[in-house]
Amino acid sequence: MSPTRAAGLVIFRNVNQVVQFLMLQTSYGENHWTPPKGHVDPGESDWVTALRETQEEAGLSEHEMEIYKDISKTLNYEVNGKPKTVVYWLAKLKNPDHKVYLSEEHQDLKWLPLQQAQEIAGYSDMKMLLQEFHEKAQKLI
Ligand code: AMP
Repeated sequence: MSPTRAAGLVIFRNVNQVVQFLMLQTSYGENHWTPPKGHVDPGESDWVTALRETQEEAGLSEHEMEIYKDISKTLNYEVNGKPKTVVYWLAKLKNPDHKVYLSEEHQDLKWLPLQQAQEIAGYSDMKMLLQEFHEKAQKLI
């Protein structure tokens, strides 16, 4: 069975030299928290999907972020017995005060430092991704 593909951006901002990650709470399913991401449309590249979904779900466009094309990580998990692959790139919001606009797919947002972002992310693979991206992000603020 070929996996469902999705792509997104793990976005951080620098507030007083502290890295904060953007987490969105879904308005579907069990209302879990996730970075912006979504399904790859037929014929679309993962990169274009990540940009499109971030625009749709957080109202942030490519030029408002520094996106690190060489810093990415892929998660693999099952949804309803079907494999799903999600690739995330690391991105920095250039203006930390920039407002985030949610779509109907999410009901809340939080900017959180590493430990709190890991706590609400819940899933251990996402916690590890955040840990790894945090190490990189600290060198980029
Ligand atoms: P999502 O992929 O975030 O749209 O979520 C689809 C379903 O997969 C929801 O039930 C989530 O709770 C679950 N899910 C999200 N992320 C993970 C993960 N890293 N590991 C396992 N299940 C997940």
